Amino acid sequence: MRPEPCVGRFAPSPTGPLHAGSLVAALASWLHARARGGHWLVRIEDVDTPRCVPGADQTILQQLAACGLHSDAPVVWQSQRAALYQAALNRLIEQGRAYACACSRKDVEAALLALGLPLERHQAAPYPGTCRPERGGLQGRAGRAWRLHVGEGPAAHVQWRDERLGMQEQAVDEEVGDFVLKRADGLWAYQLAVVVDDAAQGITQVVRGQDLADNTARQILLQRALGLPTPTYLHTPLVLGNNGEKLSKQNGAQALDLREPLTALNQAAAVLGLSPLPRQTPVVQALQVWVAQWQQGSPTGA
Ligand SMILES: [Zn+2]
Repeated sequence: MRPEPCVGRFAPSPTGPLHAGSLVAALASWLHARARGGHWLVRIEDVDTPRCVPGADQTILQQLAACGLHSDAPVVWQSQRAALYQAALNRLIEQGRAYACACSRKDVEAALLALGLPLERHQAAPYPGTCRPERGGLQGRAGRAWRLHVGEGPAAHVQWRDERLGMQEQAVDEEVGDFVLKRADGLWAYQLAVVVDDAAQGITQVVRGQDLADNTARQILLQRALGLPTPTYLHTPLVLGNNGEKLSKQNGAQALDLREPLTALNQAAAVLGLSPLPRQTPVVQALQVWVAQWQQGSPTGA
């Protein structure tokens, strides 16, 4: 058996320019691929069109280029890949793994209250399975969204090893429930688009911000349902804003300054436990130094 080539990716949502937080994930994904002699791809995750900012995709690509980070294959936009997502959904429907759901948010809350389940603040309530086929399905109501039937017990219990966070596990049936694949507004859900694209692009290693770690169990369940391979996962440390929450435009994140790419790269490198380099260092040289550092030790973050 010949070893599979390593393929990593950076998959930003074009909701604004890159900032110090998103550059950490971009740099880490690039280093992780290069340290293993692999390829690195860029994918623009613009399925949630109402949240996308026109032109932000081009700004992000220019920022990455200024930092010496170039996709090894043509950049893909998720908004142009609906046919792939539909084909995956059709397969799940044929297998009885996806079903139509007629519930509004209020319907879900009412069902949870009827079951005596507390609605915790700041936490998305698990879907109670109201529209599951074995419970009678839509019962004359109009389908709004499509959900994955996650099953119960061991089938819905996912364990995986994160290369930085260690062993992780989630009982998806209890903590999330049957999750949405295609939304009531007709948009593709993030989970389905990511899983389909990672497989279509041959991604073997997912490196992304820790705020996305919570999605991993759902994505692994979806990979299993679709018969797709599971990549390795590494979730990078978050950069916190002034209010102690994940850096975002709302709490003071500045767009990266393209005139000083090494300054921005040095900050990202420090978050990843790599040594910052003198200001005069050319970007290409800095990246090579960090690849060598990355190869020497498993990334642990700051
Ligand atoms: Zn429902």
